[in-house]
Amino acid sequence: MIQLSAAEIADRAERVRERIAGACAHAGRDPAGVTLVAITKTHPPETVRAAVAAGLADLGENRVQELVAKSDVVPGASAGGPVRWHLVGHLQRNKARDAAERADLFHALDSLALAEALDRRAGAAGRVLPCLVQVNVSGEGTKSGVAPAETHALVDAAARLANLQVTGLMTIAAPAERAGDLDRIVRPQLATLRELRDAYRGAAPLTLLSMGITGDLEVAVEEGATHVRVGTALFGERTG
Ligand SMILES: *Cc1c(COP(=O)(O)O)cnc(C)c1O
Repeated sequence: MIQLSAAEIADRAERVRERIAGACAHAGRDPAGVTLVAITKTHPPETVRAAVAAGLADLGENRVQELVAKSDVVPGASAGGPVRWHLVGHLQRNKARDAAERADLFHALDSLALAEALDRRAGAAGRVLPCLVQVNVSGEGTKSGVAPAETHALVDAAARLANLQVTGLMTIAAPAERAGDLDRIVRPQLATLRELRDAYRGAAPLTLLSMGITGDLEVAVEEGATHVRVGTALFGERTG
């Protein structure tokens, strides 16, 4: 993998912020309402330091072991540190403890069993863990997340747990492979996530929408994303 310099990362961060600002202008939104989560997965600790130096204060990993290792280098808010660590990938129940102790926002809640494990571990750590319920809007069998029709039931069940706070929804849309896919396939999937949030009538304070990656972040912002998760555009192609 090519290791980008701190200056290159700062330059790329600037361009990603311009893309977000452009989409916000197009959609009549305030860019302050969109948090750029820099996905540092597979990249070394130097990349994390360069990202922080470039003003990126929200960092994300898809594997909890990597989040633990990198939050040892740059601590997150849960440890009184200067950044927020986002765990954006599927989590096994037996790793709930690390997630409950280290994640500042967990994006991939996808079962009640996992919610209960996280609730126990967050309680033991004396904290309330903010969570997003991951929804499989594309229906692809390879993607984690609950079905759209099951989303509100999981939000309600998790909201009854004392040490979790469900604050929104997350999704990964199908990849846009051909010209036209962004509008024909990705946009309706991302709109589905917003509609699920807006239709919710229960007790959880659902406000956040985590959606949008390097290839579809403009569409995501236009459809209401509050958190976009960007790796490749900031740090280059991943080989691993
Ligand atoms: C890797 C990853 C991203 C970033 O994808 P890019 O295409 O590199 O921007 C976003 N979300 C999740 C859940 C990921 O695992």
